[in-house]
Amino acid sequence: MDNDSRRFVEHQPLGGYSASLNTIPQHVIFLAECRSCGRQRELDRALLDAYANMANVRNIEARLRCACGEKNTRLMTGYWVSSPPAGNSS
Ligand SMILES: [Zn+2]
Repeated sequence: MDNDSRRFVEHQPLGGYSASLNTIPQHVIFLAECRSCGRQRELDRALLDAYANMANVRNIEARLRCACGEKNTRLMTGYWVSSPPAGNSS
């Protein structure tokens, strides 16, 4: 697990997850989360571009397999924020 304080903020691309990869800006982070074991991994954008440039996010998601062997991945786009949210008093 990450031991820094960054967290992932999901931000769907314009047009949602049916948008094709080549329309999504390069700075967007792709994070795959396994629904079965909860494991998260960041996908290499260069690799995605090479193999799935014209595919949409949902198509790519359907092809991902987790290290645990499950093909039950949720693929999100967004970005990392490094500091915890202010005013979190709960
Ligand atoms: Zn898994």
